[in-house]
Amino acid sequence: MDLFEYQARDMFEKHGVPVLAGEVATTPEEARAAAERIGEKSGGVVVVKAQVKTGGRGKAGGVKLAKSPEEAEENARQILGMDIKGHTVHRVMIAQGAKIAEEYYFSILLDRANRSYLAMCSKEGGVEIEQLAVERPEALAKIEIDPAEGMTDAKAMEIVEAAGFTDSKDELAKTFQTLYGVYTNEDATLVEVNPLVKTEDGEIIALDGKVTLDGNSDFRQEHHAALEDEKSADPLEAKAKAKELNYVKLDGNVGIIGNGAGLVMSTLDVVAYAGEEHTGGRAKPANFLDIGGGASAEVMADGLDVILNDEQVKSVFVNVFGGITACDAVANGIVKALEMLGDDATKPLVVRLDGNNVEEGRKILADANHPLVSIADTMDGGAQKAAELAAKEN
Ligand code: GDP
Ligand code: MN
Repeated sequence: MDLFEYQARDMFEKHGVPVLAGEVATTPEEARAAAERIGEKSGGVVVVKAQVKTGGRGKAGGVKLAKSPEEAEENARQILGMDIKGHTVHRVMIAQGAKIAEEYYFSILLDRANRSYLAMCSKEGGVEIEQLAVERPEALAKIEIDPAEGMTDAKAMEIVEAAGFTDSKDELAKTFQTLYGVYTNEDATLVEVNPLVKTEDGEIIALDGKVTLDGNSDFRQEHHAALEDEKSADPLEAKAKAKELNYVKLDGNVGIIGNGAGLVMSTLDVVAYAGEEHTGGRAKPANFLDIGGGASAEVMADGLDVILNDEQVKSVFVNVFGGITACDAVANGIVKALEMLGDDATKPLVVRLDGNNVEEGRKILADANHPLVSIADTMDGGAQKAAELAAKEN
């Protein structure tokens, strides 16, 4: 889960990372009230910042300086509702203004390939770091951190030196250590600060924060559940989550259901290929949905319910390999699911079954003779059929 900047700010503060005052607001009036409180600390100057989970807000006009509460209100009115790279702005953060002397970059992330953590740091922050990494890779220091040893004093200073800092070295090293504390204590997979600034008074402050939390740690990080953003979550994904389905919404028009993450992934590939090959790109996978091994009729019904409620979906491809749950049980599940859904089932379903008890499974579907269901013998054939049905509907 990615956090909003204001949530990252609060988390930084909790772990002793130097940050400036900040408050979240959802209306221009709230923004004004927050600016009245916060502006006192910085001669009336605040920054109104769009809270969206994407970078480049500054460039998009989502970060605006305000010299009075009235101006903050006006800025918030402009920024709220704005679209930044497909994200609607529902909240702004009112942040204390800073007198910036220099902007740096710092991040810690999980380096899966090397089974370690990686710290990245540059004296040239503020800008888009991907661009810096490509254009001037020598300006971006990369230092591996052994998770067993952590961010020792020596390691923190190694990063400071590698990035080429010549002053404020101790403050920088200390800040890296507190950020490492956020990373490990909160079970994050990314902590990024861009910019980390030095103010005109020589203070080091984290001015923007991006944090990604590892969902696998939810069981021991109970407070993370409250950080979830229900407002901007996709409603279908929220519904699927409530039913404990592994569902990811995609952009296409062919709904996909399968059992086992690997099979579903390859089904996405095969449908994408069939869409290109047989419909000139007019059919694409609409989602990822893994109903898992022991798929009961209820799970199948829940899955179909989510997918059929996706307005973009024009056909559904059910691709199941019978294993522990044999094909006859899956076929019964599909038939019962269609009964349960009744008139809500309105889109053609292509079903491909293989594996355990495949003959019985196909017979059950054939006997049920549901007008929306057609049976495919192969995965490629099923994908092609589903793609063609979806393209025809467009
Ligand atoms: P991003 O564009 O989404 O990464 O948003 P940032 O929070 O990083 O802000 C973009 C830029 O706005 C920063 O690099 C700063 O140059 C500037 N900025 C942000 N906060 C302040 C502030 O308090 N004072 C001043 N003077 N500039 C700020
Ligand atoms: Mn930034």
